[in-house]
Amino acid sequence: MSLPGAPFVAYGGDELFIDGCAASELGERFGTPLYVYSRRAMLAALEPYQRALQGRQHLICYAMKANSSLAVLQTFAAAGCGFDIVSGGELQRVLAAGGDPGKVVFSGLGKTRAEMKLALEVGVRCFNVESEAELDQLSAVAASLGHRAPVSLRVNPDVDARTHPYISTGLKDNKFGIAHERAVETYRRAARLPGLEVVGIDCHIGSQITEIGPYLDALDRLLDLVEAVEAEGVSIRHLDLGGGLGIRYTDETPPAADALIAALLERIDARGHSHRALVFEPGRSLVGNAGVLLGEVLYLKPGTAAEENSTGPGKNFCIVDVAMNDLMRPAMYGATMAIVACQSRNEPQTVYDVVGPVCESGDWLGRDRALAVRPGDRIAVLSAGAYGMSMASNYNSRPRAAEVMVDGEHAALIRERETPAELFRGEHLLPR
Ligand SMILES: *Cc1c(COP(=O)(O)O)cnc(C)c1O
Repeated sequence: MSLPGAPFVAYGGDELFIDGCAASELGERFGTPLYVYSRRAMLAALEPYQRALQGRQHLICYAMKANSSLAVLQTFAAAGCGFDIVSGGELQRVLAAGGDPGKVVFSGLGKTRAEMKLALEVGVRCFNVESEAELDQLSAVAASLGHRAPVSLRVNPDVDARTHPYISTGLKDNKFGIAHERAVETYRRAARLPGLEVVGIDCHIGSQITEIGPYLDALDRLLDLVEAVEAEGVSIRHLDLGGGLGIRYTDETPPAADALIAALLERIDARGHSHRALVFEPGRSLVGNAGVLLGEVLYLKPGTAAEENSTGPGKNFCIVDVAMNDLMRPAMYGATMAIVACQSRNEPQTVYDVVGPVCESGDWLGRDRALAVRPGDRIAVLSAGAYGMSMASNYNSRPRAAEVMVDGEHAALIRERETPAELFRGEHLLPR
């Protein structure tokens, strides 16, 4: 089977290539841990969204929490995308990358007054509001600036996205959104508040969704509300159907973006809502398979042989220079991501747990992986373009990785490796 990320991540002979660049050469040149992204893979992931929405009034807002590096934002801004943001910091990044604030939707359930003010001043397209208390506060902040804030309500449609509980967001008991049964009343309230202008409706039911069904269920619930709200004289211009489309990490079979959109459009048309503008907020599906994380094998630690009365032989460990601080997904969600050698060896494979140097037993990248590697070899964790670097931390005082964007045979350093001195910049010793 082809590698996740193919055709932009593939072997040419014994060498793993990211687009036109050999992974082992990138590791040599820039050092590891190293995130490598293919610009062409990102644009290829965007294309089916754009194609399926052609001829409709629409905006694709890249959910930048998936990967918020400036050059990634620049790539999507140049391709016409807006951005889905969840903090003032993300808004600053959009501005720094040359993105258009008029194409930004501001999501998130805990917006501060300062974040609201900044977003109003730069003129974001819409606030996706998640509670009645937030509506009141946004109205007050906007009114104090002499603005009217454009708002959508993020409705919790109470559908099961059938994904990991940590990344399911559309169920009643999740902290996100306004309960479906409170939504009409909340729209009434929004329409009365002086600092607000109702412009849309929004939902986002989860992440790594691999079926179309939950999207259609959520859409139906949303359209029911649109009809009820408009019957009260509050008009809703756009439908924001969120993000959440999954990718293949190992053997998942998510629908293609154009197939998902076609199914949604068919339902929208069948219910007589064709005239509405559409907003989508894809994150993972635009960048996940466009990136890999390169590391180096430091040590191989064989398991102990089975002894009498023991539970069997111990595990073999492949200790690499990449750790949970670089890539949280395995430790945080138990996520399975493919791990391959950057140069394949024609040698028998051994089954390893691939682990990092961080002092936590939860610091593993992959369990029971068959690899033929030796110390000094480079490995690649695949599908690492989403929720990789953007979730990286400095735990164990590990500087964050460098990042490279490749385009054909050209590789550009888009983020320098952090230095240890940068890690304690802004810290102060006590006066003696
Ligand atoms: C995280 C998030 C997204 C993107 O989710 P993906 O699974 O990465 O596509 C979109 N909208 C909102 C509100 C989010 O929180």
